Amino acid sequence: MNGHFSAVGDQPANGNYDHGCQVIDEEKEFNRNLNDYLQTMHVAEAGFNYHLISVFGSQSTGKSTLLNHLFGTTFSVMSETERRQTTKGIWLSKNKRETSAGTPMADNILVMDVEGTDGRERGEDQDFERKSALFALATSEVLLINIWEHQVGLYQGANMGLLKTVFEVNLQLFLKDKNSTPRSLLFFVIRDHIGVTPLSALQNTLIQDLTKIWSSISKPEGLEQSRIEDYFDFGFAALPHKILQGEKFENEVAQLGARFTTGHRVGKADDGVAETEGGILLPEYHRRIPADGLSVYTEGIWDQIVNNKDLDLPTQQELLAQFRCDEISREVLVAFDLLLTPLEEQQAQASKLGKAIVLPDLGTTASQAREKCFRAFEVQASRYHKGVYSRKKQELESKVDGRLKTLFQGQIAAAHKAGVTAFSEAVSNKVKAGQKAGGAYEFAEIVSNEKKKTTEIFKAEVDSLAIEGVEWTNFVSQNQLFEAELDEVSSKLRKDEIRRLATRVERWVKSRLGDAVGLEFNKLGSGRGGSGAPEEGQKPATEKDLWDRIWKVFTGIVSEAETRFADRAKSFDASDSEVEVGLWRLRRKSWTALREKIEEEVMEGNILLKLRENFEDKFRYDDAGVPRIWRPTDDIEGIYTKARESTLTLIPLLSKFKLLANNASPDLIGFIGVQPAGVEAGDEEDLAPIGGVDEEEGKSLEEEMTVLSENKRQDLVVRFKKTADGVYVEAKRSAIGGMTQ
Ligand code: GDP
Ligand code: MG
Repeated sequence: MNGHFSAVGDQPANGNYDHGCQVIDEEKEFNRNLNDYLQTMHVAEAGFNYHLISVFGSQSTGKSTLLNHLFGTTFSVMSETERRQTTKGIWLSKNKRETSAGTPMADNILVMDVEGTDGRERGEDQDFERKSALFALATSEVLLINIWEHQVGLYQGANMGLLKTVFEVNLQLFLKDKNSTPRSLLFFVIRDHIGVTPLSALQNTLIQDLTKIWSSISKPEGLEQSRIEDYFDFGFAALPHKILQGEKFENEVAQLGARFTTGHRVGKADDGVAETEGGILLPEYHRRIPADGLSVYTEGIWDQIVNNKDLDLPTQQELLAQFRCDEISREVLVAFDLLLTPLEEQQAQASKLGKAIVLPDLGTTASQAREKCFRAFEVQASRYHKGVYSRKKQELESKVDGRLKTLFQGQIAAAHKAGVTAFSEAVSNKVKAGQKAGGAYEFAEIVSNEKKKTTEIFKAEVDSLAIEGVEWTNFVSQNQLFEAELDEVSSKLRKDEIRRLATRVERWVKSRLGDAVGLEFNKLGSGRGGSGAPEEGQKPATEKDLWDRIWKVFTGIVSEAETRFADRAKSFDASDSEVEVGLWRLRRKSWTALREKIEEEVMEGNILLKLRENFEDKFRYDDAGVPRIWRPTDDIEGIYTKARESTLTLIPLLSKFKLLANNASPDLIGFIGVQPAGVEAGDEEDLAPIGGVDEEEGKSLEEEMTVLSENKRQDLVVRFKKTADGVYVEAKRSAIGGMTQ
């Protein structure tokens, strides 16, 4: 049976919108399917490009029938045979027609079919009538008032009661905010127009009635003088009887439909009929609720109405803006998350493992995601309340930028760490390669090349994060920090390089000292103070100037080493202070090396051997260097005593490092010099204490210069004498033996 179907009064199953979408059900509950419906109908994305129209009128005056014909909707209508109310609550449907009578209709016309009121049972329905009128006025651009021709002029008729309600409700809205309640169009559709009375006459009668009603309502303070035209425009149409003049009805309805297109005002007629061009849908009727917020807005409005709260549209619009902006913000963040979350996770994972990863293309990805996110938000949210929008925009920006900041800082930290590591590894490797290749490398050059390279890579990475016009992505200080750290690392590497150089030079000093000092000691083996002929131009060495010669050789070697060290250290940009410390260390280490070499030379076996050689040289050879053949007549004892005494004088000489010139030890303190100011912790660690130089070590310079202790000296004298005695006895024997032969 037509007009009586199961879906009436029920919410349609999701996605089943055969009869449109029920916005308010008969229990006065708001139906949340509205948003789904708007999305299904592709109205949700239309922004402001939609129109909302409501129909009002008594029950069973053919309202649903009219809408279905005008807009191709399928609102349920009362069956011809069963006279009972069909439309329950408020239904909404999108216009299904694109054109009417050949004229394109406006985009996205949404029509609300409102449950009719019945004058005969007014007491019961007045509450809903009032509420639905308020709802329609708060949301709709056009109110279609459906009225029988024969009701026109019946001032006490049911429709007039409805209009009175509409006017009162409208004033109530105006009271709250005079600016935010736009004008509405009251469009009268006169049904079953017989044609005897022309529309213009009916129109006049209606306007008179409306004015009468307007004057009869009690107006709030301050609005007593207001006129109906201040709030409403009026439109009129008449339609013939649908059943009796079916074809004519269809035609007229099509003509009426053609008026549902956008238009604009060209003047204002005194009779209250708006003078417009184009269709009846003027921009000023629009409630300026973005389509994607319509569901939330209408829900809020209905909630206020049902709970008998004062309808405060500006507040509602702000609340809507907050709600929608938050929602849009969440939506755009979903897309942002999709791109950014994996990167954030990667970074967090790495940092958990103590690693630093530089995410590839982070700058581009991030700035694109950011831009897309803000753009999407702007497109949708900027349609809402300006103040709320800009506040929510800032919130979103700070949320997004907060996350990007963390990400970028992590990225820069990673690039920083990786850069520093790469730099110090590259320098070390180049130095190692240079050492392998024979040491021909320029440390300063390696450092400056690598620094340039690393700094460029870092800067490029940091620059790639810059977002145009975004102040906080300007990372100048991070670049400076990076360079400063490279300098610090360089200086550490240079210190290592200085140490390596020092080690090389020390080794060289040791080896030179080994040869040269060894040579000087070897000369002791010759009783004539030197082996072989003296070098040209040089005085033959004497035993007494042993220490002078050693000091001279020592200072000569050290001075050469100092030059080598200083030249090389300066070549890699070592500071004066670093060179100074290096030289000071070098002198100390050299002295220690000399001391060790001397120690080695005077070790028991070594020195005894040398004394014996010295003695034998004097004893066994004559002054001309010819070996003696002992004869019994020779004064063996005399020669022996002389040679022995002569060699014995070497022992006190050897015991102490003393120069001939002033019969004093060399100026070791002066030679090593005052500890330079640049000495740092660690510089001294590997330095052996030197008596007299390091006063607190408890060893005096005197002790430092003592080569043989008193005990050792005496021991040496005894041992030497024994050795000499052995040589003497042997000589004696050979003299006698020579006799017997
Ligand atoms: P609603 O309650 O106002 O929505 O009215 P309906 O559209 O359900 O129609 C109520 C009854 O009026 C139905 O039986 C229709 O057939 C009938 N009807 C529809 N249009 C017209 C019309 O133009 N003139 C007359 N007299 N009856 C109509
Ligand atoms: Mg109906």
